[in-house]
Amino acid sequence: MLKFTKINQENPSKISPDKRVKTFDEIYARYAAQKAEEQASRCSQCGVPFCQVHCPLHNNIPDWLKLTAEDRMQEAFEISSSTNNMPEICGRICPQDRLCEGNCVIEQSGHGTVTIGSIEKYITDNAWEKGWVKKITPNEEKSESVGIIGSGPAGLAAAEELRKKGFQITIYDRYDRPGGLLIYGIPNFKLEKEIVIRRTDRLKESGIKFELNCDIGKDITFEDIKNKHNAVLIATGVYKFREINLNNSNYNNVVPALDFLVASNKTGLKDKVEDFVNGRLNASGKNVVVIGGGDTAMDCVRTAVRQGAKSVKCLYRRDKTNMPGSQREVQNAIEEGVDFQWLTLPTEYSGNGSLKNVKTVLMQLGEPDESGRRKPEPKEGTEKNLDVDLVIEALGFEPENLPKLFDNQELTITRWGTLKINYKNMMTSIDGVFAAGDIVRGASLVVWGIKDGRDAAKNISEYIEFKQFSENREKKKVANA
Ligand SMILES: Cc1cc2nc3c(=O)[nH]c(=O)nc-3n(C[C@H](O)[C@H](O)[C@H](O)COP(=O)(O)OP(=O)(O)OC[C@H]3O[C@@H](n4cnc5c(N)ncnc54)[C@H](O)[C@@H]3O)c2cc1C
Ligand code: SF4
Repeated sequence: MLKFTKINQENPSKISPDKRVKTFDEIYARYAAQKAEEQASRCSQCGVPFCQVHCPLHNNIPDWLKLTAEDRMQEAFEISSSTNNMPEICGRICPQDRLCEGNCVIEQSGHGTVTIGSIEKYITDNAWEKGWVKKITPNEEKSESVGIIGSGPAGLAAAEELRKKGFQITIYDRYDRPGGLLIYGIPNFKLEKEIVIRRTDRLKESGIKFELNCDIGKDITFEDIKNKHNAVLIATGVYKFREINLNNSNYNNVVPALDFLVASNKTGLKDKVEDFVNGRLNASGKNVVVIGGGDTAMDCVRTAVRQGAKSVKCLYRRDKTNMPGSQREVQNAIEEGVDFQWLTLPTEYSGNGSLKNVKTVLMQLGEPDESGRRKPEPKEGTEKNLDVDLVIEALGFEPENLPKLFDNQELTITRWGTLKINYKNMMTSIDGVFAAGDIVRGASLVVWGIKDGRDAAKNISEYIEFKQFSENREKKKVANA
């Protein structure tokens, strides 16, 4: 270990932009075994590992780096997967620059951070290949069941942890495939779908039931789910998209980001998507404008490039430094030829039947607003018109109205529409109903969804066990009376 002074930081190679824009394949290669060992040996094994502190799952990073450097790969895999249900997924898509790697101490001394994410990905990809990732076989089967609404990272992590304890688990999802945004939001070039599918297949093999195409509130009532199970977890994510306040409903070539990404991901999975085939959700040959500066916007611009768009512009009202998206993804998009128009606000849509022009104005950053970020203000006399064939709005997501959707006004929400929980036990305002992931936090990250799912599983298990204990005690009291 401690080889950071002798060995330089080396990331896995990245496919060149001209090649990668022709496919939807992941853009980063995987380390060869020797390279992973070498890079892991750069870790300084510091007394207080800030990487671990800043990883939402508090992964034992220095330990699995040391084991990797010593070629003890099975042990590295076991330690890595003891705190994370999908390490190879986090290794691929966590914004490491803001989390573990952003806090690596050797970075502060100018040596370049340990490449934690790529090594984490290597450890578990290798474990899958070696057959070390086994299905779950609980020590004892329990008769109690838990219903989980939503099969995104939060729901999947909770399901796995509860199944390990022997509970009977059913996951309900409105989509036709499990995985939530892992399968239908995040594009293949960041996370290949086989990686998600092998995870969900393993859960199926472990006895977890999936009820797909099952929209709670429409196909089954929330009350039914509650009555069927000993506890319920709501992990439905956030899906109501924000619209820019222009006259967009008049134009069918102004589309929400997620519709565009779902169509692309489904097409990649060989489904026939009518709106992709008829061109509505297909950027091929078009002048595309994406509005927004977060990770979803980056996924849209890069998808549009791969679909063969004529031109792709990204409009964002603040500057590059203030973009909410990961800088790594912004850089990837620039390399792939996306034209970023920072400090640019769309002010008007115009066209006859379909949208033809977007009027924009340049912005400047003024005084900080109540959130502490400098407020963008329009610069007079800087208006211009952009010719467009397709506009994709990627302005973020809000929670759907769950009390209404689930027809249950007992379910209380915050002023942002997220579910209110008791943070001590993650229970909502309804006894035995818990919540986790984006529906509690608002739009967040996969790693936080996993963390919440794991915490919820622990609380649900304690809740069921305590309830059972109390019921048995009551029964005994009655029997002895
Ligand atoms: C385009 C995009 C790109 C992203 N990229 C990244 C990234 O690179 N890295 C990262 O860390 N995070 C990323 N995120 C964020 C991340 O995907 C989410 O934070 C995470 O998936 C939230 O997990 P979840 O389990 O709470 O919800 P979700 O993943 O949203 O899953 C919720 C599930 O609930 C189901 N559901 C909802 N309502 C119902 C209902 N009424 N009945 C039945 N089922 C229902 C949905 O169909 C869905 O499958 C991205 C998000 C988007 C939109
Ligand atoms: S889960 Fe994410 S933050 Fe934690 S070590 Fe892995 S890549 Fe870093």
